[in-house]
Amino acid sequence: MNEEKRRQLGKTMAKWKSQEDWEVEEADWNDTEKGREYKNYWFYKRPKGINIDITHRCPLECSSCQRQTEFLNHGKKVHGYDLDLSDIEKLAKYYHQFSFCGQFSDPVHHPKFIEMLKILRRYGCKASIHNASTFKSMKWYIEAFKAYPENTQWIFAIDGLPEESHKYRINQDGPKMFQILLEAKKHLHMTPSWQFIIFSYNEHNVDKAKQMAFDNGLGFIEIQSSRWLGQDDPLMPKSQKYKLDSKKLEISKGKFEDVDIKGPIKLMPRCMIKDKATSQQAAVSNRGHLIPCCWVDNAKTMTFNGKNRIMKGLLKVSKINEVEDIEQIVFSKEWQEFGKNLRERNMDKILHCCKHHCRLREDKDKLKISTYYGKTGGVKNKNIIG
Ligand code: SF4
Ligand code: SF4
Repeated sequence: MNEEKRRQLGKTMAKWKSQEDWEVEEADWNDTEKGREYKNYWFYKRPKGINIDITHRCPLECSSCQRQTEFLNHGKKVHGYDLDLSDIEKLAKYYHQFSFCGQFSDPVHHPKFIEMLKILRRYGCKASIHNASTFKSMKWYIEAFKAYPENTQWIFAIDGLPEESHKYRINQDGPKMFQILLEAKKHLHMTPSWQFIIFSYNEHNVDKAKQMAFDNGLGFIEIQSSRWLGQDDPLMPKSQKYKLDSKKLEISKGKFEDVDIKGPIKLMPRCMIKDKATSQQAAVSNRGHLIPCCWVDNAKTMTFNGKNRIMKGLLKVSKINEVEDIEQIVFSKEWQEFGKNLRERNMDKILHCCKHHCRLREDKDKLKISTYYGKTGGVKNKNIIG
């Protein structure tokens, strides 16, 4: 299968049976005191925090990453730049939770990442940091852990036993990553986690890796990915235990390909869900814009050539270094309009990306992520959307 053709399947709205169910629930909530207080959905996302991409740098070459599929495979330079510390400070005054998930980059490669952590510590913001690159020195890591040990949740990607992780995480030094995890444990107040995406080359080692994590007092996050285009995807696990069954896969694939985004599709915008655990965070792109969520930060939507009419309007008012404070963005006419169109399902004014990611899927195809927090923390299983 052509790697470029592999793409993310649609997300499932697992919790609600129908769009109508969701709308009734939201309408009821809007009528409560809290609902009235947070009438503005964008404002309500404040405690939920942001998913932030702070740089354009990453030395790894994971094949599914947009760095490869949208840029490097076509001989183009990955876009974006190192966000300014003043942007982080402005965001920290508004949002209480930062997720450094890295849409196009690994956060540890921002040259001032440690200073950013110090800013978050000063403002008492929580942070979760996803790291896969192993190119920083151990000395650097120790300094980073010490910069904000209290409220940072570090998550390290090792997809397989350490010595095989580089098969997907190209250029990664897996054994070094495991040593970094052990070092993190010594300094952080929150248990660092090993994140393991199950692929065909590592599926027989999941239990071994989990045991290795638990024996060392680490958290373990097992991810059953949904990023397969079809049954012949070479990265897809073979064991039935770890892959979507063929019926579900066919449904997912069919839905993805057949969806008529011009027709009357059902839409449940994840950015507007009041439930903190299920709703989608706002995001910050590595070009310095606040955006409604990280899903819109893709080649088709942000177009990287600026031609998407809806996005163009939104981006015009969303540059963080051009505003006094974040409220200026989320209460702007453009953001209000964007939210209103989603709420009222004005389909011709809604991004294709929203119709793809937040459409109602009726196959109830829950894709699984099981999250383990080690022997002492017990086992927590979580069915999540995506
Ligand atoms: S580590 Fe993250 S940003 Fe870097 S190539 Fe892999 S998926 Fe992309
Ligand atoms: S894809 Fe669109 S509708 Fe869905 S959460 Fe993001 S901004 Fe909201």
